[in-house]
Amino acid sequence: MDPRFEKYARLLVNVGINAQPGQTLVLSAPVSAADFARLCVSEAYKLGVREVVMRWHDDFVTREKYLHAADEVFDIVRPWQAEEMNTLARENAAFLSVGSSDPNAMRGVDHSRMVRWSRASGKAMAEFDGLQMSDKIQWCLACVPNPAWAKKVFPDLAEDEAVDRLWDAIYATMRITADGDPVEEWRRHNAELNERKKKLTAYNFKSLRYTNSLGTDLTVELPQGHYWDGGNSVSAHGVAFNANMPTEEIFTAPKRDGVNGRVVSTKPFRAGGEIIDRFAFTFENGKIVKVETEDPKHKKILEDEISVDEGACYLGEAALVPYDSPISKMGILFYSTLYDENASCHLAFGASYPTVKGGADMTEDQRKAAGLNQSITHEDFMVGSEDLSIVGTTHDGREVPVFIDGNFAF
Ligand code: ZN
Ligand code: ZN
Repeated sequence: MDPRFEKYARLLVNVGINAQPGQTLVLSAPVSAADFARLCVSEAYKLGVREVVMRWHDDFVTREKYLHAADEVFDIVRPWQAEEMNTLARENAAFLSVGSSDPNAMRGVDHSRMVRWSRASGKAMAEFDGLQMSDKIQWCLACVPNPAWAKKVFPDLAEDEAVDRLWDAIYATMRITADGDPVEEWRRHNAELNERKKKLTAYNFKSLRYTNSLGTDLTVELPQGHYWDGGNSVSAHGVAFNANMPTEEIFTAPKRDGVNGRVVSTKPFRAGGEIIDRFAFTFENGKIVKVETEDPKHKKILEDEISVDEGACYLGEAALVPYDSPISKMGILFYSTLYDENASCHLAFGASYPTVKGGADMTEDQRKAAGLNQSITHEDFMVGSEDLSIVGTTHDGREVPVFIDGNFAF
């Protein structure tokens, strides 16, 4: 067996989710990744985890449900389904999700069914999502390859070769080599990200202005008392974890009603079973007032995505990733947000992480008053480019270059 396979499972359990002895670990994984999931289970018990609660899922079964299930099931979440997750979160379980999606798995399904399901589950899972978004519980998301995904990323290679190449690429993003110690690598990486977020927080910018040659000219105001987050987070029980593996970003929340101008996407966006290559959003006082897409049939999909609820058409995240970040330099389009978002500056429409002082303990109304956005959705889209410029303006009117030609200016 490739020594990196085991190192990957160990890294996720020890650093990503950082499961603690005596803690319950909830592991979700697709049946196609059963061998990797089993390895994670073994690593977790080795650490002294109390119990691993396994949640299997499968793209094929999900797709069949969207295609053929009775219509009303997309509006109903049985109370015990939500209560299971809410109870586990209240018990301070840790939630590790291993993803492995075929980017085209949901092609051709009725998008309105997907929207209704995300609305119903968003409502039912509000407590769980709140604990997760405010990092009160440990959570971690990572991926493993599958043949359909690998062929999408490397269409010219034979299936086996494509899968091997995707594994190599994923190990590289995870800083895993055959002879190195990824745990040490991640300690150093997290320290670097922490340094950068401190620097940005200290500037206390009033706004950021994004411009590039694709037609982006967007001003994003930031809330009073905002801070920049990234790298590892610390749970309510004081345990450090990495919510995304890999991660290269530093992020904060835009001021809900303080976004104006137009932004053009720079990497494909997956929605409604489709891959949307290029689109633009125009904002007025925070709200998306215009959607442009290259392909006219994609316009409706995006419009549906941003009208899932009232907050879906406002921004919830502004994340900075240098154009020369290691993942970006690999030059691979992964068709997976987890990787592509770490190769590019991105924004997200939908809910904010509570990145203002005291935000994690605020009520819904207090968060709103602080300028944070609320929604059941949160979707990243990429806006970074080789020539992206970002200029920060401080509260005393000073202009500070933050990004020059796609990379950090400091
Ligand atoms: Zn992000
Ligand atoms: Zn995001």
